[in-house]
Amino acid sequence: MAALTDKHVLITGGGSGIGAAIARLLAKEGARITLAGRRLDALQAVAVTLPHAFSCHTDVTREDDCLRLAARAREALGPVDMVIANAGGADSQPFNRVSAASWQAAIDVNLTGTFLTIRACLPDLLRNEADNSGLRRIVCIASTAGVKGYAYVVPYVAAKHGVVGLVRALAAEYARTPLTVNAVCPGYVATPLLEKTIANIIAKTGRTAEQATLELVKNNPQQRLIEPDEIAAAVLWLCSPAARSVTGQAIAVAGGET
Ligand code: NAD
Repeated sequence: MAALTDKHVLITGGGSGIGAAIARLLAKEGARITLAGRRLDALQAVAVTLPHAFSCHTDVTREDDCLRLAARAREALGPVDMVIANAGGADSQPFNRVSAASWQAAIDVNLTGTFLTIRACLPDLLRNEADNSGLRRIVCIASTAGVKGYAYVVPYVAAKHGVVGLVRALAAEYARTPLTVNAVCPGYVATPLLEKTIANIIAKTGRTAEQATLELVKNNPQQRLIEPDEIAAAVLWLCSPAARSVTGQAIAVAGGET
């Protein structure tokens, strides 16, 4: 039997990049998937490729959207067993040009969005708490920026450190339930978000696309970009019964970058 047969997994930011790769892999392992995000067409394009999927337009920075998402997901595919809080975004600029508004936007999408998504799904995740056989999981897609500093992305780094803190505290609070809570911390992954970062470097420095990519690749001791499927594989393992003793961890998938 597949590892996640009949589990209902809710994934935010599931219409592209890492979120879409996670959706495809977990669906292959038998999971029913709710895809949430701001672009319904992108979500639906992924959903039609999966056997059991539901798409829900959601802005994770809005509490009412997240509550509606949890209710609609439950109605469509039953109670949620696992949440993959993946939606996020990064803007780069020197710290002295960071406005209060751009600081707040980074915190809203990366940290508050993670909090609102998890809190909305918590009643489902903790249902039948006494039944220790239930497979319940929260996996947050943080970043190596959640465990180390990078120049020119102060709000993103602060928000992702917040995500890692949220994961550690939640894991401690719910350790006596079947719920595990972990963060996956990718290095640079080949996704639309990275394309935006590369375009930004080109615009600001006049470098070529190749030079800009090389600049990012240099951070990874393996000297390559990571593929979204590699992040999905780490998430699948954390969601599997084998990882039931792994909680409160920030797991780097970053070619050895520290
Ligand atoms: P991506 O841009 O393809 O995915 C981000 C997704 O989040 C998109 O589908 C976007 O629509 C969605 N999103 C953004 N704001 C949202 C909002 N307010 N409400 C709902 N959905 C929203 O890029 P990705 O690289 O796949 O990013 C996925 C996650 O991985 C992000 O949290 C990102 O910070 C993290 N990450 C990416 C990299 C990388 O190099 N690509 C590295 C480390 C961490």
